[in-house]
Amino acid sequence: MNVTERFLKYVSFDTQSDSRSDQIPSTPGQLILGSALAEELKGLGIQDAHCDEFGCVYGHIPPSKGCTRPGLALIAHMDTAMEMSGANIHPRIVENYDGGEIILNEEKHIATKPEDFPSLKAHIGQDLIVTDGTTLLGADNKAGIAEIVTLAEFLMANPDFPHPPVCILFTPDEEIGRGTNHVNLEKLGAAYGYTVDGGILGELSYENFNAAAAHLTFHGITAHPGYAKGVLKSAMLIAMEYQSLLPVFQTPACTQDREGFFHLNHMEGTAETATLDYLIRDHDYGLFLARQELMKDCVDFLNRKYGPKTVEITITENYRNMIEHVKAHPELIQCAITAMEQTSITPVITPIRGGTDGARLSYTGLPCPNLCTGGQNGHGRHEYVSCQAMEKVTELLKNLVRLFA
Ligand SMILES: [Zn+2]
Repeated sequence: MNVTERFLKYVSFDTQSDSRSDQIPSTPGQLILGSALAEELKGLGIQDAHCDEFGCVYGHIPPSKGCTRPGLALIAHMDTAMEMSGANIHPRIVENYDGGEIILNEEKHIATKPEDFPSLKAHIGQDLIVTDGTTLLGADNKAGIAEIVTLAEFLMANPDFPHPPVCILFTPDEEIGRGTNHVNLEKLGAAYGYTVDGGILGELSYENFNAAAAHLTFHGITAHPGYAKGVLKSAMLIAMEYQSLLPVFQTPACTQDREGFFHLNHMEGTAETATLDYLIRDHDYGLFLARQELMKDCVDFLNRKYGPKTVEITITENYRNMIEHVKAHPELIQCAITAMEQTSITPVITPIRGGTDGARLSYTGLPCPNLCTGGQNGHGRHEYVSCQAMEKVTELLKNLVRLFA
């Protein structure tokens, strides 16, 4: 089976994860794909391949003869995002893409247009797998899985091709932030690795946001509005005042690249109680801490103005920038760049404006930059992936494992 055939098989599984579920994994479809992948790996001769009770798939490819280097992990996630259905995906291959508009669904008037998605222009002449406009495609991250399994097939059929022990890991529930909750690093047995979960061909990332969530509660005093003078303290108005104290341009809509932000994510309120929930993001750890301090200073200001304990804040750190951990392993970046050059891929190094499974793994002892898959426009109906890009990434992985032998 080639990488495209594999990809088409994997997207026929509905593996949408669900943050409202407290099951592990969050949805049963992920276990079904996990078992199928373990069976497929076994069929390739990877004897220890299995899907455990948490829905994590492991499989180990022994090193080529004479290689004594440590294990290299290759990681992808099986679930698809919550934004759009991942059931009944009807993929279609647009052969030899001509650079124009792609009609996804004639009846529903859904089309992917190059003016909306300029990355299409980089794919002229390639074969693009698209959706029928009613679901996402699932290239995020089944393209990564198809590429890793196709590499595994090659390595098992060519044991003399130089490579270290390759430790395969497919995780569930990445899209809902639980991808690494049950990963057993001892069982994985790798010293470092890569997530294959990026976008356009050449993308390489080893920086991500530092991330925290702030929850604020505002306590007011209610009164009959006709007789409220000097008595009423509206929790909602104090909450609005709080927001007005934060820098107006430091929001997701006004920032890019390495600029951090405060993102008001949820608000609720009555005159008596109001709550605001923020996401705090910054690549720079010092600036990330300064953002938290600023949020606390604004709380202090309002408490001086309206009385002690009018406003309470709790800040929870979610994940950190992996760069500190990746820096200790410069060969991970160097080898990725060299392997891309050997595959005639131009590296595009971009900081991730989010987090990855690799960021969490980097902090638990497995430094993990993120490699491209060739997929584009994840999490929505305009998602697509190029067959040639998936073939290139598979070649890239071959060149990469050879550098670690
Ligand atoms: Zn992903």
